[in-house]
Amino acid sequence: MKIVMKFGGTSVADIGKIKNVANIIAEQRQTAEIAVVVSAMGKTTNALTNLAHQITDKPNLRELDALLSTGECTSVALLAMALNAIGCPARSYNALQMGIWTDDKFGDAKIKYITAPIWQDWSKGTIPVITGFQGITYNKDITTLGREGSDTSAVAIAAAIGADYCDIYTDVDGVYDADPNVVKDAKKLDFVSYDDMLKMANNGAKVLHPRSVMTAQQHNIPIRVRGTFTPEDLGTLVAKSRQK
Ligand code: ADP
Ligand code: ASP
Ligand code: MG
Repeated sequence: MKIVMKFGGTSVADIGKIKNVANIIAEQRQTAEIAVVVSAMGKTTNALTNLAHQITDKPNLRELDALLSTGECTSVALLAMALNAIGCPARSYNALQMGIWTDDKFGDAKIKYITAPIWQDWSKGTIPVITGFQGITYNKDITTLGREGSDTSAVAIAAAIGADYCDIYTDVDGVYDADPNVVKDAKKLDFVSYDDMLKMANNGAKVLHPRSVMTAQQHNIPIRVRGTFTPEDLGTLVAKSRQK
């Protein structure tokens, strides 16, 4: 079994939460080969955007991506340290190191090809911890995939390595029929088809980035949306059919 586990910003917002995530990964690695994708801590990407806008209303887009991509660099290094500290060998990787090649549309880059030499880590029993959101152009400029783009990084890596599941861990325990933080009696769904999930994502259900759902559908990668703070729950399966 091969699983890509992706953790969003709220799941790694502080050191205690990063340690919690390391424990979830340690548990899962007992039964599967794992690759991890992480977002920037908490509201880091917003804070970096604010810094740029204190300089100019129209920051140079290449430099803005160079800046915004640093949030994910911090979180992968800290999470790899946390894993090593609990006896799970892990190594952090950025987009260049992982070979996440994109076009040069800064701020909204599209992934063209992923090299992902993950087998090198797996053959040594090491867990690769990879920056979400980042890409690299053929000229080695750093790009970003658009806000919330780490979901797309995770699914694209899952497709590249032929993973059985892409598990998207977030601050809610699955996909609901409406935003559970807005609609009090929203109902949790066990299963959502790619088509229905794409409609929800395009209508603003932030829980999955629309392009991640398109990528999953294209490569038939089952996504499980799971709660970082309720890891024993299998969450919501997003797939072609209930049988994954
Ligand atoms: P992450 O930081 O893990 O990427 P996001 O904030 O991007 O998390 O997405 C999770 C949020 O999506 C939830 O906190 C919830 O408020 C929101 N959300 C919107 N619509 C839905 C929905 N239909 N089901 C679940 N969550 C939803
Ligand atoms: N850190 C980026 C953002 O806040 C990407 C992501 O979290 O998916 O938009
Ligand atoms: Mg998100």
